[in-house]
Amino acid sequence: MRLFVGIRLNAELAAALEAVQQQLRAQGVRARYTRFDNLHLTLAFIGETPFAAEAEAAMARVCAAEFNVPLRLSLSHFGFFHGRGGDTIWVGLGEDPALISFQSALVKELLAAGFDIERRKFRPHVTLARQADSQDAWVEVPERSMFATEVALIRSEVTKAGREYTDLASFACPSYSQGG
Ligand code: ATP
Ligand code: MG
Repeated sequence: MRLFVGIRLNAELAAALEAVQQQLRAQGVRARYTRFDNLHLTLAFIGETPFAAEAEAAMARVCAAEFNVPLRLSLSHFGFFHGRGGDTIWVGLGEDPALISFQSALVKELLAAGFDIERRKFRPHVTLARQADSQDAWVEVPERSMFATEVALIRSEVTKAGREYTDLASFACPSYSQGG
């Protein structure tokens, strides 16, 4: 199965990004837009593996040790990656120190558990559209943020309805779940 570790966006942040998608549509940008419920931040892409239980165990370890405060996700800037199949349009997030250090601890733990994770510099972003013909599209990014109190191990599959993500496990920030 195809796995990644990510953070689901809350309804408020997702709605703000949906409004950005609407601006892009209004500018005539044709693309495969990310569905509202699929908007997320990827922390680590695991890829094809049969070892979901091992990934979950690695996440349990790193969350217990390092997920000490809620992670701030703040919308920051607009951008795209050019690709052969069209552009990927995304909104970059602020580089919250807790987010950056948690992500790096997570990658370390997954590597130690034997998963082949890319070591590229983490550029936190939420993908809004793929295979886009983005031309000179430019949109304002609203000033919005959320505090993530959960990190999920997510299975990614292609179904008739399109890309589908299913949470296999999720880990809450311990201080938050204890009300502290
Ligand atoms: P689709 O591939 O159909 O366009 P998707 O990219 O959302 O949909 P996946 O390819 O399963 O679905 O990717 C799941 C998440 O992992 C996405 O956030 C994606 O951007 C990210 N991702 C996918 N491949 C990689 C990779 N090689 N390196 C880093 N992140 C990746
Ligand atoms: Mg993909």
